[in-house]
Parts: sequence; C-alpha cells; structure tokens
Amino acid sequence: MKVLLVRPQAPNKLSFTKILDNEPLELEYLHTALQQEGIEDYIYDGLVEFDIEEAIRREKPDVIAITGYITQETLMIGYCRLAKRINPTIVTIVGGVHAQLNYSRFYCDEIDYVYRSECVWDFVKLVSLHQGSARPGEPSLHQDNTRLEQPGPHPEQPSVHPGGIDAKALKEINGLCFRGEKGFVENELRAVDIDSLPIPDRSFFYRHRSSYRYLNLTEVATIKTAFSCPYSCNFCYCTLLSGGRYQARDIELVVEELARIDAQNIQIVDDDFLIDVSRLERFISLVKEKDIRKTYICYTRADFVCNHPELIADLAEIGFHYFLVGLEAVSDEELQGFQKQTDVTMNERCISVINSTSAHCIALMIAPVDADKAYFENLYRWIVKNKVLYVTVSIFTPIPGTPLYEQYKDQITSTDIADWDFLHLVMEPAKLSRREFYREYNKLFLRLYRLAKKTGIYDFMDLSYYKSMLGSYLRRKIRGE
Ligand code: SF4
Repeated sequence: MKVLLVRPQAPNKLSFTKILDNEPLELEYLHTALQQEGIEDYIYDGLVEFDIEEAIRREKPDVIAITGYITQETLMIGYCRLAKRINPTIVTIVGGVHAQLNYSRFYCDEIDYVYRSECVWDFVKLVSLHQGSARPGEPSLHQDNTRLEQPGPHPEQPSVHPGGIDAKALKEINGLCFRGEKGFVENELRAVDIDSLPIPDRSFFYRHRSSYRYLNLTEVATIKTAFSCPYSCNFCYCTLLSGGRYQARDIELVVEELARIDAQNIQIVDDDFLIDVSRLERFISLVKEKDIRKTYICYTRADFVCNHPELIADLAEIGFHYFLVGLEAVSDEELQGFQKQTDVTMNERCISVINSTSAHCIALMIAPVDADKAYFENLYRWIVKNKVLYVTVSIFTPIPGTPLYEQYKDQITSTDIADWDFLHLVMEPAKLSRREFYREYNKLFLRLYRLAKKTGIYDFMDLSYYKSMLGSYLRRKIRGE
C-alpha cells in the first residue's frame, strides 16, 4: 500500500513563488500518521517537483490525496482525473482548507472522497480500509499517456468507485464525503482535539529546505499552534474552519516541537497567534528558559498590538521579526462593514508600536470594489504618512463559504475559480469601469514599488521580474483582455 500525498503547483495565472513559499505542513502531518501505522507514502510538493504525471507513474500509488487552496481547485480535480486515467484503481482523495467548507465543488467522477476533518488518524483509517484491495506495484491499467487537462465532465471516462468498502466503516470517518448510491454522502464534521495531532516528522522539509522562504527569510519551517480564530470578520474564511471553534494547543507542547525544529526561521501559521496574553507570556518564558534562538513570523490584529505594546516588545526581543496585521482599510466605516472590531486610530497606533521595536509590520489591506481614484490616492497617502514599509493590497474577493460571499454572490461575474487570488476583480467595480479600476490599482502598485525600491526592503528578490509580471498582467486587464 502506497499513498501519494500531493500539494499542487501554484496556479499559473500569477506566480509569486520564491517570495512566500510554505513548507507543506499538512502533508507532513499525514505522512507522520501514515508512517506510525506502517503505511508507505511519498510527498509531492508542486514547489519542489513539476511533473505530477511522472510522479504518479513513478510512485505507482494505491491512493492519491491532494490538498490545495481555492485557486488550486481545478488543478486538484485535474490531478485526480489524471490519476484515474493512469490507473483507474487509484483511490482519489481531496482535502485541505478549500475542500473543508466547499466540499460539494469536488463531487465528480474522478474523486472518490472529500476528506474534511483535521484528524490525521481518521485519514489513516480511511486509507487502511483500502489496504485489502491495494495492489502495490501493479502496472498501469490505462496507459494512455494523457497529459493533464482542465477538469470538466468526461462522460467517456468510466467512474471507478473505490468499491468493496463497507459503507458502515466509511460512515464512521469524521466529516468524510463519499460516493453512495444516490450521490455523495456527507458525514457530520466533528471538532478534533488539536492536541491529538502528532509532532510532525519534518524529514521532507529538511531534504528540501531551500525551497521554503518568507520574503528575505530563507529555509522557513512552519508550525501550527491553533485552529481557527475567535473573531468573526465577515470576509474571513479562516475563522470558519475547524467548525469555527478556536482551539489553542498546549503551549508546552508547542515549545517542545519548536525546540526540535532544525531551522532558524519559523512561520507560525495560526490565523492569529496573539490572542491569549498568559499563553504568550508562558511562551516567551519557555523560549527563554530553553534558550531557543529563532526568528519568527506570525499573524496578529491591530487592537491586540495597541493594547499590549510591552508584549510586542518582548516578542520582538525573543526574535519575532514580521507581524502580519490585517489592517484591511483606512476608514472606520469600512472596518465596521467588515465587523473587524478595530478602527483607523488603532491601525495607526499598531504600526507605530511595531515600528518602535526591531520587528516589522506587514500591513494587509483590501481595495474595495467601490474604490474610486480618490480612494486609491488616499490609501497611498495613508501608507506613506504612517510609514508602512511592507504592504500588500488585495482586491476585495468574497470567498465561498463566508457571510460576505452570501451577500455578494449574485454580483459575481467571474467563472474561473483561479481568479480568486485577490488580484482579480471577480465582480464589477461600483464606481469605475474595470479598466479604470485596474489602471488605478496598477498606479498604486507602481507607487508602492518605487517606495519599496527606495527603502531597499525587497533587495533580496528580483523586484524587476515581479514588477514586470504583475505590470504586464495589469496592463492586459487595463486593455480589457
Ligand atoms: S480576519 Fe483575522 S481576526 Fe478576523 S476572523 Fe479572520 S483571522 Fe480572525
């Protein structure tokens, strides 16, 4: 029995690889659990390998399990189709954050299971159910050399049901969606105890450490210390994951894992790491006690930073280097509209608190669809006035599953899921034409590029390459292509 664990390549519309590339932690968790049960697996990361077909033919998996974000949905389905074409007996599973809430988008012939839970042990249980029917090393039954294509209905392709598996056993697997006689059956998704996660085996990361980075920080390992977020900003998808229930790991376990990671740079991938003051104080004291000297990246909120400047200084002192803050907007009205529970004064104070330490604030902003010329100008001036060195401006994109998606879904004009990358307009702008909107967005991008060039903060990367990639994309949009 062999399982191929897959994270697809970045979707090819706009690729920002070599800037923000995460270790595939979710696959390493599955690998760890499979390994403990004596099941062989192979991790295919699209940041490391570039030919999925070659990997499937070479590894000859019995099961292929694919994770991915919303923009990778088409690739995930395409990879399952490819696996079935190479060998119709391969069991196909999709999972990950997009599939967890948008599972029905994966109901198609080439997918056997949508795995929604974070429980790695139930994943092993699912794989084990197929162990009896596995035929490792069996030659491909359908060697048609078909290359990867876009998904879509393929009526000529016979549907290969994993077959022979007792539905009663499948019913017991947390949150599983599986094919029944009348379409997919959806098991109830129950909360998973976060402390039941094993400490991940990072041998994959150690073999490929040069592939993972965060801006100028190289060989960045990732660590997860909590599920979901206790806040409920209405545009946010992350807060709805894991049943929408915030669960923090035992901080002693977190630090134990941290101490074992052989990497200088650590990205804490919690949706918001800075929540519980006493937990953070314990974290700081354990890190000092164990003399762990690393550099950290984490997400936080403006109100937390404003209310706890001393704690921010202490975190900076033990190595926190980048605080990513969802500032989102430069008006109280917009922030209220997002149910952010912050205001512009907090945003401004947050930047100055972080700037007063050795750490940096990475401001995450959203350009709303009703932005006009004055809005873009005001946003730029606010960024300059508040000395925000690191900033990303996303185009407002309602994500399926969120309350704002429900509000805007009738206005969505885009039909290509790869457009959900926060750089595309998925609905019509309210005050500008599409071309004008992209022109203003492009102008803002060029002004921010010039600022960044002056400060030298992005000197580690080939800024002109990314400028030309994004610039030519935006120029195509301005031309209406
Ligand atoms: S945007 Fe941030 S603070 Fe708001 S719900 Fe999402 S993760 Fe939590």
